[in-house]
Amino acid sequence: MKAECSNTIACVATALLVAALGCDGKSWPTRSAQTHQPPKAESKKAKGPNMTEKLIKTDEQWKQILTPEQYYITRQKGTEAPFTGKYWDFKGTGTYYCVGCGNELFASETKFDSGCGWPSFYAPTDLNSTQESIDTSLSRVRTEITCTKCGAHLGHVFKDGPRPTGLRYCINSAALNFQSEKDKKADSPTDPNQKSSPPAKEPPSPNQPNA
Ligand SMILES: [Zn+2]
Repeated sequence: MKAECSNTIACVATALLVAALGCDGKSWPTRSAQTHQPPKAESKKAKGPNMTEKLIKTDEQWKQILTPEQYYITRQKGTEAPFTGKYWDFKGTGTYYCVGCGNELFASETKFDSGCGWPSFYAPTDLNSTQESIDTSLSRVRTEITCTKCGAHLGHVFKDGPRPTGLRYCINSAALNFQSEKDKKADSPTDPNQKSSPPAKEPPSPNQPNA
């Protein structure tokens, strides 16, 4: 009994000693702690999810490179009259770019005849090339589409488009610049075998709301 008791005391004493040493050990200064430095402001650069470089110009600069109509549509959120723009009934094969900055926006494969009087697409070529925001003008809620790169107003997107997205990007012709497939190949004769496979087109539904 005695031996057992003294053993227990020894064990408890040892445990207490170890615990005390352990505590002291934690408070000892270490070299690694001295070399630790707070993160610098530079790390903010890598945080931005948007890889598109912004193009920023003053109103005066925009007026110098845009026609009055293009300026009104893209910089003042204007809307061209339906059935008047150069692309609403245009069926060329190629790519549509932002008139302000040349950002690639839509491919002709995604263009469809919506019957609304504005060029309509069911998807942008890259979801990052356009931005959406809520537009409550004209006493209704619409989703405005702008160019991610230069902020140009392009038009609106509606949820009454054809498959595969069910969306209708209703875009002002004045906000777009079209380049045909032939012109593109002449500019950069690469990938001669590259062929895109457009999804099946659907006939437009009549009486859609306009831009
Ligand atoms: Zn742009």
